[in-house]
Amino acid sequence: MSEALHELTIHAALDGMRRGDFNAVELTQALLDRIDQVDGQVKAYLTVTPELALAQAAAADARRAAGDDAPLLGVPLAIKDVLCTEGVRTTCGSRILENFVPPYTATAVQRLADAGMVMLGKTNTDEFAMGSSTENSGYFTTRNPWDLTRVPGGSSGGSGAAVSAQEALAALGTDTGGSVRLPASYCGVVGLKPSYGRVSRYGLVAYGSSLDQVGVLAKDVRDAALILGVMAGHDVHDSTSMPTPVPDYQAALTGDVRGLRVGLPDEYFIEGVQPEVEAAVRRAIDVLAEMGAEIVRISLPNTDKALPVYYLVATAEASANLSRFDGVRYGFSAGADSILENYRESRGQGFGAEVKRRIMLGTYALSAGYYDAYYLKAQQVRTLIKQDFERAFEQVDVIASPVAPTTAFRIGEKADDPLAMYLSDVFTITLNLAGMCGISVPCGFDNAGLPIGLQLMGPHLGEETVLRAAHAYEQATTWRSHWAQPEKAGVS
Ligand code: GLN
Repeated sequence: MSEALHELTIHAALDGMRRGDFNAVELTQALLDRIDQVDGQVKAYLTVTPELALAQAAAADARRAAGDDAPLLGVPLAIKDVLCTEGVRTTCGSRILENFVPPYTATAVQRLADAGMVMLGKTNTDEFAMGSSTENSGYFTTRNPWDLTRVPGGSSGGSGAAVSAQEALAALGTDTGGSVRLPASYCGVVGLKPSYGRVSRYGLVAYGSSLDQVGVLAKDVRDAALILGVMAGHDVHDSTSMPTPVPDYQAALTGDVRGLRVGLPDEYFIEGVQPEVEAAVRRAIDVLAEMGAEIVRISLPNTDKALPVYYLVATAEASANLSRFDGVRYGFSAGADSILENYRESRGQGFGAEVKRRIMLGTYALSAGYYDAYYLKAQQVRTLIKQDFERAFEQVDVIASPVAPTTAFRIGEKADDPLAMYLSDVFTITLNLAGMCGISVPCGFDNAGLPIGLQLMGPHLGEETVLRAAHAYEQATTWRSHWAQPEKAGVS
């Protein structure tokens, strides 16, 4: 075999284990060794769980020996640290949850576990998933495996970096406004954001409940399809999870895009986009056209309102969701004398600057006298944005665009400028507001050698189409054969 075990995709690893070339314990040990080798520099993980991983791997090997062939049997994965894992510390990247050990496991994670996953550990994130770079983590900043002086994107930057640096075969992330697609794009991996309601949010620590969705960061589209198929579907613990049957997503990967109508929205090809990004995305669209897709120019006219609408809705929901962290029920407590003082001190010390900013913005938008002017208005414009997409999807099957206006920026470059940071999400937040699905798939490199992502967006429950288009494009190109080599990069 030419590839080292940590370099395998999930489907290649499963083939190897089915053939008996290696077992889950060997595979898991290879990943743990890789983490030892590179994570000191990449810093993708907040918590690594080697004993647990090796025990799960041994159990997987025993299941396989007994004739079991569960879809993720013995596959080592990483989980973003906003998903609860029973018995394993879950911090949400926040000091306020530094020692929080959940009493139960999130449904999405449990379904992977039931399918035989080996959990390697929990990955770094911007605090409570608020951010685009992991610089808002209460612990440390994860580095981009392609260039350690740059951010991996966020908020699922630890998951993106872990997959990109081959420290996990794939990872779960969450996407409220782009947090799966952006790190996938910056780190050169595949990032799938399912439709709202496709995957249970039970056990996902809530940020913006009407926007949050669990997604996948993977080495290729087939792996993303495999994981989605395992974790999707209705969950009695989340009434917003859809009862719609889960299709066989891998069966959708036909390689055929003939007749597929691909929309190009005028509003996503605008000034301010890094020229190499626009050029790579346009070349990707040419590839789809050469394969028989029909390219259609479309308009999503309310796109320019998406950022303000998102930052009202998301912060309003966050301010309500984060009120539960009161220094009494969960995590850090300042231990002040009076109850009010304890709230103030626990939250004041426990939350970082960006989280506080969002709580203040959201509380303001929801307060009496401002509610109609801000929150209600934002909800109305959100409907217009959704209707833009609904109309567009009467004309086209998928919509193509850049994932982000630029490639990965330097650590520190936007840390003191929240508005500049928010602009990284300008092409991803619309889909969350509309509740629809999308994927980021590698489509090239800029002049500095940093990866570029192509975004393919689909209608609600349009995952099969989005996966089919992304897979066909991926198979027709060679970007997947390039991997980051953080072990060779110097640290600056
Ligand atoms: N960067 C966006 C934000 O800060 C999106 C984050 C996310 O998708 N979790 O809200």
